[in-house]
Amino acid sequence: MDDRQFRNAMGKFATGVTVIATEVEGEGVHGMTANAFMSVSLDPKLVVISIGEKAKILDKIKQSKLFTVNILAADQQELSMIFAEQIKENKEVVFERLDGKPVLSGSVVQIACEVSAEHVEGDHILFIGKVTDIKIDDVEPLVFYSGRYRSLAEEQPVTI
Ligand code: FAD
Repeated sequence: MDDRQFRNAMGKFATGVTVIATEVEGEGVHGMTANAFMSVSLDPKLVVISIGEKAKILDKIKQSKLFTVNILAADQQELSMIFAEQIKENKEVVFERLDGKPVLSGSVVQIACEVSAEHVEGDHILFIGKVTDIKIDDVEPLVFYSGRYRSLAEEQPVTI
């Protein structure tokens, strides 16, 4: 099996899109687009994210021991592209705070976490986050499927 086939197969799992954000004191906020996100446990409340070993955000999360997961809304594709380096020019992004941690306003859900464990698995590092606060805004999510951004609205059947 080659890398392309593996990527294509994994891309057939439709997901939402998140921006993971963290902040090291004195260095400002750093964000990265990620769809490798999953709920892990209800008691205690835990989530997991998977970060590539070459990502700049990796050392920042190790240092700060905190991150937020911002589930993007349908109208936030540009933010996904900014934090995945798909838009190259520097754009200023304003973060607000949840439990003192940096979050993106307008997201469907903001989840504030403290790192409770990390595991190296192949070329990625899994961070388990203990959830310290959550904010929900009931808006439509951005969807990622087969390497393309989508919205739930476009998949809805036309009713006559
Ligand atoms: P950088 O490349 O430095 O940062 C990414 C971009 O964000 C840069 O353009 C930077 O200028 C900008 N940026 C960072 N902070 C700020 C700020 N405060 N204000 C404004 N701009 C800022 N990779 C994974 O490891 N795991 C995943 O689960 C994952 N899922 C992905 C899902 C999708 C849909 C896409 C498109 C990409 C995904 N990636 C994932 C790839 C990842 O988003 C990119 O490789 C990313 O560029 C790596 O970020 P970095 O931490 O190395 O930081």
